[in-house]
Amino acid sequence: MAIHIDGKTKLCALLGNPVEHTLSPAIHNFLADQLGIPLVYVAFGVERAELEDAVRGGLALGILGFNVTVPFKQSVMSCLTGLEDGARAIGAVNTLVRSDQGFCGYNTDWIGLKRLLFHADISLQGRTVVLLGAGGAAWAAAYVCGCEKAEKLYILNRTREKAVVLAERMHTQFPSMECCALEMNEWTKMEESGLIALQATSVGLWPHTNCAPIEDVKFYQRLDAAVDMIYKPEETLFMRLAADAGAKTANGLNMLLYQAVAAFELWVGRKVEPSVVSRAKDMLKQEIGFQRNG
Ligand code: NAP
Repeated sequence: MAIHIDGKTKLCALLGNPVEHTLSPAIHNFLADQLGIPLVYVAFGVERAELEDAVRGGLALGILGFNVTVPFKQSVMSCLTGLEDGARAIGAVNTLVRSDQGFCGYNTDWIGLKRLLFHADISLQGRTVVLLGAGGAAWAAAYVCGCEKAEKLYILNRTREKAVVLAERMHTQFPSMECCALEMNEWTKMEESGLIALQATSVGLWPHTNCAPIEDVKFYQRLDAAVDMIYKPEETLFMRLAADAGAKTANGLNMLLYQAVAAFELWVGRKVEPSVVSRAKDMLKQEIGFQRNG
């Protein structure tokens, strides 16, 4: 892919620290190239004390939009002129979109997960969901559970207090969704089976691939479906245990892909066709090192 840059080329960028291993430039430059949009995407590693200057500088330089990653997803909110509902509810921003007044903050992680579930044919409506984790990804996942009208949400986390905060916030946001916070090893207190599990901890992430947040096979026998937000490895131990117990499984690759597509669509103001998304996914698999069509 040869990038043509001229005086009309627009810039989008990632703000984070560190940013060296991000896949975002690969995805966004691929989408721009495929759609013939004069846009280049680069990654900026920014010091915490300089975040506000970076955002202000982006406005002055005409930067079309930013992605924001660790550790700035919360702190960037004080640099913005507006917040979309999802970002406000989740309490984190991963996308900034330029407006006349300044940058507006969006969260497209939840949109990525929603589209992942759609493509995996997993509906949360009226279901009992067990969410593992209470960090940033889990907040986005809990918001999806509310938006998709899950009946009950168990939030299991190593640090119980964080699960309690998330459960209380989601119950306030979505009063009809019952929310229960438990410590990870208290999963036996759940009475239901036919559960949909959303794995949002970093346990099992490459290269530490031989662990899962719960390893007891009896837990997995309770599941109808198991989604891991991790995308490397392609099949985590969590997914393997769930598949062995007969559950449908999906990894986090589509979440990564569709959160990027949603951000790109916000920046350029047009939809990305499914055929382009499909090619972007193939490219992403190669970047990550998956077997083709794997
Ligand atoms: P985070 O905010 O740092 O949260 C980490 C979560 O993992 C917390 O719930 C933490 O529990 C738990 N955890 C960490 N080490 C643990 C251990 N040894 N045992 C049990 N629990 C442990 O991170 P995040 O941003 O939410 O990311 C979580 C995962 O989601 C990562 O693997 C990330 O790659 C993935 N993710 C994927 C996408 C995607 O697009 N596919 C997007 C975002 C994130 P405590 O609260 O007890 O520390």
